[in-house]
Amino acid sequence: MAKFELEKLVRPNIWKLEPYSCARTEFTGEASTFLDANENPYNDPYNRYPDPFQVEVKKQIVKVKGSTPKNICLGNGSDETIDLMYRIFCEPKVDNVVAIEPTYGMYRVCADINNVEYRTVLLDENYQFTAESLLAKVDGNTKVIWLCSPNNPTGNALNDAEITKILNSFAGIVVVDEAYIDFSSQESWVAKLNEHANLVILQTFSKAWGSAGIRLGMAFASEEIINLMNKVKYPYNINILTQKQALTLLAGKEKVDEWRKIILAEREQLTKELGKFSFVEKIYPTDANFILVKVSEANKLYSHLVGCGVIVRNRNSVSLCKNCVRISVGSPEENKELVKALTSFSK
Ligand SMILES: *Cc1c(COP(=O)(O)O)cnc(C)c1O
Repeated sequence: MAKFELEKLVRPNIWKLEPYSCARTEFTGEASTFLDANENPYNDPYNRYPDPFQVEVKKQIVKVKGSTPKNICLGNGSDETIDLMYRIFCEPKVDNVVAIEPTYGMYRVCADINNVEYRTVLLDENYQFTAESLLAKVDGNTKVIWLCSPNNPTGNALNDAEITKILNSFAGIVVVDEAYIDFSSQESWVAKLNEHANLVILQTFSKAWGSAGIRLGMAFASEEIINLMNKVKYPYNINILTQKQALTLLAGKEKVDEWRKIILAEREQLTKELGKFSFVEKIYPTDANFILVKVSEANKLYSHLVGCGVIVRNRNSVSLCKNCVRISVGSPEENKELVKALTSFSK
């Protein structure tokens, strides 16, 4: 493999960057009177700036996820950590990234915002890829390869052996987005973080943790990469309300496990129900909390469902997803509503 040298991958301005120094970071020790940050003495606890490195939250995260706090950077949703990859590694108009297609749309949007070339490689008919086909798109200015496993919108986990090949032969950053890992039978890459200096794993509180509204994403990577992320992110990117709510969730993890069990059982049930409709042509295997379904006419079905007050994601215009809709697995009641609406469509 070409040798992995972090300094060569990082934009020179970022490598040299002196980060903003927070008032409370400059002080260490015991104190009770804080007059260092121009905060208002009233409206406790919201008058204080939040912990810029979320020490308590990370302490609890590692109890559930493994790894260590120094290998974690928290973002305002995974979307912030995705954007950080571009801002740290990709020189606008010079560098490029390579991604599978179809996949999560934010990788491309963030590339466009940062004026970075976005190269894609179509998945095969099983929505899998080969390391070879991705590596064929790599040149001297390729900084990041985007992988999403389980993949959105296809639902399947990507082949681990091919991911390993990419990690071993690409000298740039390999991001594995594991937003749906808690619904997968596949093991998380977090356990193998120490084996790959170029690996960045993204996870989120938005899916299995039921907390899309608090905006909290996790990036796991080497300490060196995490230090760069911490340097570039806004100092107070995770607000007090989010940090508090995350601690509450992490303390009540049994509830999250229960939700997951229900959702997995409902996924199986819904798959069975879907198989009964003659307009359903294919139900793709899923490792996530959604099911990609190929139907005879996706646009017609979508409009019908909207008329019934049931909203699914029409993926008809996405590459390799002609006439597909992506259906999130809901509560038992919601799924019954969906099946009722599907039944009225079939008549
Ligand atoms: C839903 C999703 C996310 C979550 O993004 P947040 O900003 O954390 O809400 C990340 N990646 C993929 C592939 C997703 O589908």
